[in-house]
Amino acid sequence: MARNISSKCKLCRRTGEKLFLKGDRCASPKCAIVRKPYAPGAHGNSGSKRGLSEYGKQLMQKQKIRRMYGISERQFRRHLDDAKKGQGVVGDNLIAILEMRLDNVIYRLGIADSRYQARQIVGHGHLQVNGKNLDIASASLRVGDTVSVKDIKKEKNYFKDTQAILKKKGGTPGWLDFDAGKMEGKILSKPTRDEVGVSIDIQGVIDFYSR
Ligand code: SF4
Repeated sequence: MARNISSKCKLCRRTGEKLFLKGDRCASPKCAIVRKPYAPGAHGNSGSKRGLSEYGKQLMQKQKIRRMYGISERQFRRHLDDAKKGQGVVGDNLIAILEMRLDNVIYRLGIADSRYQARQIVGHGHLQVNGKNLDIASASLRVGDTVSVKDIKKEKNYFKDTQAILKKKGGTPGWLDFDAGKMEGKILSKPTRDEVGVSIDIQGVIDFYSR
């Protein structure tokens, strides 16, 4: 599986805004966007700010959404193709597909502090979906699916922090339900763009791939 091993903070600085890729650190004064609010590299702080072309803006939006969800170009294209095949608005379908990936659901449930951490939890085989083991981070879940931490893993110290993570995030979104006692989450409905609340120009992303 392809993996982006460049610095996560540099990805944010390149994008020009917080993408919340590092859990706690993102809300602290140590956040690189707070300390160095300019692009990485020798000329990042040179002061010259060229305006982006239309193509550049769309490219930036595409990179932003990929970096935010931590997915490769190939996977992203696959998700976009699936979104085009679905019924309704392509942008809404794309957001729903990205949100209903197993790694993202784990992040939204508060079991992980960041999507990268969620991916690690999935890859290490700590989870079950509908009672069956699943360790594929990109797996697409459906409405009604349940995700749970394996009984044997629940006692790990890490999973005892879940409540604290959830509290920091302000609870689970309306399209998900989480039973902290059982360490089990359920997908109640397909997430809407409003519920997800990501500030991305989705139409710009779709236009970028339509060129
Ligand atoms: Fe981005 Fe988080 Fe790093 Fe800040 S701390 S630059 S939000 S990854």
